[in-house]
Amino acid sequence: MSTANWDLDPSMESTAIVQLQPKYDLFIGGCWQKPKSGKYFATYNPADESVLSEIAYGNQDDVNLAVEAARKAYNEVWSKMSGAERGKYLFRIARIMQEKSRELAVLETLDGGKPIRESRDIDIPLACNHFFYYAGWADKLAEAFPGQKPTALGVAGQITPWNFPLLMLAWKIAPALACGNTVVLKPAETTSLTALKFAEICEQAQLPAGVVNIVTGHGDTGAALVANQDLDKIAFTGSTAVGKLIHKACIGTSKKLTLELGGKSANIILEDAPIDQAVEGIINAIFFNQGHVCCAGSRLFVQESIASKVIEKLKFRLQSIYVGNPLDKNTDIGAVNSKKQLETIEKYIALGLEEGAEIFQPTCNLPSKGYYCKPTLFTDVAQSARIAQEEIFGPVLTIQTFRTLEEVVQKANNSPYGLAAGVWTVNGARIFGLSQQLKAGVVWANTYNKFDPTSPFGGYKESGFGREGGRHGLSAYLQFKN
Ligand code: NAP
Ligand code: MG
Repeated sequence: MSTANWDLDPSMESTAIVQLQPKYDLFIGGCWQKPKSGKYFATYNPADESVLSEIAYGNQDDVNLAVEAARKAYNEVWSKMSGAERGKYLFRIARIMQEKSRELAVLETLDGGKPIRESRDIDIPLACNHFFYYAGWADKLAEAFPGQKPTALGVAGQITPWNFPLLMLAWKIAPALACGNTVVLKPAETTSLTALKFAEICEQAQLPAGVVNIVTGHGDTGAALVANQDLDKIAFTGSTAVGKLIHKACIGTSKKLTLELGGKSANIILEDAPIDQAVEGIINAIFFNQGHVCCAGSRLFVQESIASKVIEKLKFRLQSIYVGNPLDKNTDIGAVNSKKQLETIEKYIALGLEEGAEIFQPTCNLPSKGYYCKPTLFTDVAQSARIAQEEIFGPVLTIQTFRTLEEVVQKANNSPYGLAAGVWTVNGARIFGLSQQLKAGVVWANTYNKFDPTSPFGGYKESGFGREGGRHGLSAYLQFKN
């Protein structure tokens, strides 16, 4: 690891706390079951390409068994339990997660490649907080929806992506269980380990068998879950392309559906913004978690009068960014999650050059093993350029300028996506004006990538529908009798 301006000694997080089994089976009906497929696949550490463990590949038979177990648990135990009792289990799970937070953080970093600072300070505390938050709602559903007689849906199939593995699990399992549903969750192929650790936590919490089932596997395992006829709900977070397939598969069925999909979010810097703060905000918006963030501020719009100053400061700041081993506490940008994703990002960087944009990358050295990408800025980007229109899901920022607020609203909204946006200005009226006009599920003002369990999150347009988090996140797992 090296940077132009800084030369810090390594500060490595120890991996001794992580207890990994060489092989993981499927967690179905409260037991670890060998897959009917008979197959296992390796999960890797993207920081050095080493194998961490072997994981069971679940097929349609495995998925069907998991749904049967979830149905049995729903009918015989969970739907009969009071909200207060369900809440106690959720509180117990949250507390055990907190006790194991260091192990979970190191494991998330080993399996996914994100900097330990982020796993430790963001992913795991937020995941715990979602369980604490929804535990509190479990016995207050009638108060949350007065006069509407909320009841559980039944059994939910849940599919999560690789960018925030445990956090996305928490977004899905905590509200589902609080509302009285049971679940079958399919984690992403490259980052299943914290979901499997979560299964161990459910065992430790003595959660009744079958309330939570974890079926690992590939994309077709997810498709098998969607195809199961005995589910009442599908909750999916992932790419818009897969979300569209799932949407089609659910049409004409009684399954309730929520889709949290991709994004190409606009981060807008007005000329009166506090520039140094905004520069840090831009860095956080796009380079956080290697840009593997659905709501990443991947399109920067800077008002023309301050554009050259902002770009100059951004370039200077990038020279001191640490790219390298994610277990090093100094690291700002860790490893890209997989070889496949690195190839996708590199393809887009080449495309940006072909499209005539000007590139800037800092002069840092990348580790020789593992999947790494330098933070990349593109200036002189046309509004129609594919790098400004398509989700890259990597540390690549396109920069465009604007003169008037009308112009930036038009440019920012000219996207098939509508997940998030950022606005930087000292003028409160402009914040309110822009946030009303921007077609985005979340608009952050003078900050970016801030999450809280009490706050709903979700998209417009091709970024999906439904909300997770807050009271809204409860209604995704309830039906109403009035
Ligand atoms: P992905 O390829 O769509 O995969 C998401 C999940 O779906 C994985 O578990 C995947 O399994 C599974 N899957 C793949 N094909 C499937 C199919 N035909 N039917 C059912 N399930 C299937 O997305 P990703 O690459 O993991 O994640 C990145 C995407 O997620 C980005 O587009 C990002 O914007 C989006 N995202 C959105 C939010 C949000 O809240 N809106 C949050 C995080 C991420 P495998 O892993 O085995 O392929
Ligand atoms: Mg991995």
